[in-house]
Amino acid sequence: MISRLRASFSSIALTERGPTRLTTLFFSSLFAEHPDFRVLFPPALDKLGPRVFQALKFVIDNLDDEERVMGFLAQLGRDHRKYGVDERHYSAAAGSLLEAVQGSFTQAIWTPSLTTAWTEFIDLMLDTMATAAAEDDLPATWGATVVDHERRLDDLAIVRLETDSPIPYGAGQYLSVQVPQRPRMWRYLSAAIPSNPAGQIEFHVRRVSGGWVSPAMVNETQVGDRWLLGSPLGGLQVDRDSGRDVLMIGSGTGIAPLRAQVMEMAMRAHNPRVHLFVGGKYPCDLYDIETLWQISLSNPWLTVVPVSEEDENPWWHTAPVPEPPPGLHRRLLGKPGRVVAEFGSWADRQIQVSGSPSMIKTTVYALQRGGTPLNLIRHDPLI
Ligand SMILES: Cc1cc2nc3c(=O)[nH]c(=O)nc-3n(C[C@H](O)[C@H](O)[C@H](O)COP(=O)(O)OP(=O)(O)OC[C@H]3O[C@@H](n4cnc5c(N)ncnc54)[C@H](O)[C@@H]3O)c2cc1C
Repeated sequence: MISRLRASFSSIALTERGPTRLTTLFFSSLFAEHPDFRVLFPPALDKLGPRVFQALKFVIDNLDDEERVMGFLAQLGRDHRKYGVDERHYSAAAGSLLEAVQGSFTQAIWTPSLTTAWTEFIDLMLDTMATAAAEDDLPATWGATVVDHERRLDDLAIVRLETDSPIPYGAGQYLSVQVPQRPRMWRYLSAAIPSNPAGQIEFHVRRVSGGWVSPAMVNETQVGDRWLLGSPLGGLQVDRDSGRDVLMIGSGTGIAPLRAQVMEMAMRAHNPRVHLFVGGKYPCDLYDIETLWQISLSNPWLTVVPVSEEDENPWWHTAPVPEPPPGLHRRLLGKPGRVVAEFGSWADRQIQVSGSPSMIKTTVYALQRGGTPLNLIRHDPLI
């Protein structure tokens, strides 16, 4: 069944318009049958479609890893409670998704066995989401108040909030976030500090040029704003039972989930060795390197290696480039993936990669080319 699903899905994914066609058909079928569902979604669906497609792709790509797929779907189900989604929505979505897949399939004849395979797969997927949502006794959303908004770079802000009650997320996880300036436009952000009883949480937000939400988060956030946060998601974590040391590679705000994990590890007596490569285009993009240096100075298991593509800051960034404290690694030059792969194979490590989708793809590719097996590499879904 897995190979049948994969083959039919790639015939859609590899066609230029296949992904857009699939999600457009899905939403149009859903809203035609149930016009009242439209209000649950943001006014513009152009950004949601690719996310739905990527989530489906993530599930299909990882079908051999049942634990990972089930965990992902359960988290997605818990997260969907923020939209007010219930049992009725899931059964409606099943029919629309099947119709969309069938309608986007262009390669060969759609057979009854494909209908069976896709029906079973969609039912399993949506049942897992619905059951996880029904069984979760945590709130669907948490309110949080912005207590600090620090513009660390022109296009990057560190936002600190206090949640109304503590959110039990794991260090390395991300959450759905809705800001008052962009209602109903949820975006994922990774927590940059571990969960704590005071309900403090910190996000590092990079302004994406032309984006709907991140410019508002960076430019318009005010102390006192009320944000809404969804259920914790994601599975980046250090496997303490594997006996393997850790390689972490983060770029830009992608360091946030790695930072939260090393902060959490710093509270423990024993840890595996961690090599943390921190990348960015310019030296100034390593905007939090000094915090990481401080952690590594008092935690000998942590090695921090700064990496930037350019040696100098752009002319408009006038602050001096920080120098590492004595004894710590000096900055290396290049893209993080290439620099890390130059050290050879990292086959004896457990590996986490975090950054923009293109950084993750190029880094994973560079590691693989350098002899590191793919099954050792973890990253968040590219959604
Ligand atoms: C698991 C996960 C964790 C994330 N954690 C963080 C985080 O901690 N901090 C943070 O700043 N962002 C994070 N993001 C990205 C964030 O969720 C938004 O996608 C990003 O802020 C852009 O939103 P937007 O509404 O401004 O852009 P949109 O209006 O959604 O998109 C505008 C355009 O920008 C492109 N785009 C979207 N994201 C990026 C990106 N990261 N780099 C380059 N181009 C992009 C889109 O493809 C689109 O073409 C995370 C994303 C995921 C999936």
